[in-house]
Amino acid sequence: MQTHFSLAQLADPKTAEAEAILRRCVHCGFCLATCPTYLELGNELDSPRGRIYLIKDMLENGKPASKEVVTHIDRCLSCLSCVTTCPSGVDYMHLVDQARVRIEKTYKRPLGDRFVRERVVLWNDTTRAAEASNVVRFADLILEQQRVPTNPVDAHASLLAAIRSLGIAQLPWSEAMLAARARIASAREWAPELDLPDVSDDALLESVETWLDPFLSGKTRLEAVTPALLGEALMSRFTHDQRRGIDEIAQIVRRTIRQLPGLVRRLIDADQRRIADLPEHWLLGRECKLL
Ligand code: SF4
Ligand code: SF4
Repeated sequence: MQTHFSLAQLADPKTAEAEAILRRCVHCGFCLATCPTYLELGNELDSPRGRIYLIKDMLENGKPASKEVVTHIDRCLSCLSCVTTCPSGVDYMHLVDQARVRIEKTYKRPLGDRFVRERVVLWNDTTRAAEASNVVRFADLILEQQRVPTNPVDAHASLLAAIRSLGIAQLPWSEAMLAARARIASAREWAPELDLPDVSDDALLESVETWLDPFLSGKTRLEAVTPALLGEALMSRFTHDQRRGIDEIAQIVRRTIRQLPGLVRRLIDADQRRIADLPEHWLLGRECKLL
């Protein structure tokens, strides 16, 4: 899609992001077939492509949100079916987010529309749990708030966000799993053919949706993330062959350390770099089995 933002507009990072998203759309219309609001209402403006046109016009021309824009953006369910369908990789989610921010800033909703009753799920840092409430608010002003039982399905995103902000190192890893992670890190370097995943804190945080998220089903509190759950979740990432490969390496190292401590010491002395690589618990000849 051609865009006509001015250089001054593109100096704003948000506008530059929107422009990059808009340019990816090739008007093909594949997204229409999977958009529930288009299928229900049959109006192009209630389709992803139609909404993209409306957003483009509003942002490009620096217009305040009109009633028409608000009507069609409000009808979007944010189901993101269009995103998975789009062959051009249009990041509709971030585009519509920008449109909603602009609507809130520039459109004055009728009085009746500004009273909202909704259920919200928020993270409570004190109880370290996701808590649901029924809220009645007028614009941003909360008029009434009542705690209700937390549905684990709703709590899921909140719990995952809390884990993200807490960081992987703060989770309750058992000593055994910390040792296993150290062995995996070494085996990953020594046996690249095993194609082992990176289990560093940073890499685990990056991939938390892949390995931990499936194990958070039904959980609402941080205390439900136990050492046993972490171990099970992490090891689910490894295939049978990878586990066997790690065990074999661990056994070779353990046997060598026990049977030929002098040789190991000489090897270590001959290759200083390896000293740093060899985890302390292996040097000390402790139990090396993976789990
Ligand atoms: S499928 Fe993607 S490229 Fe095609 S019209 Fe929809 S958003 Fe644009
Ligand atoms: S996110 Fe909105 S535009 Fe996209 S398919 Fe769902 S309802 Fe349609």
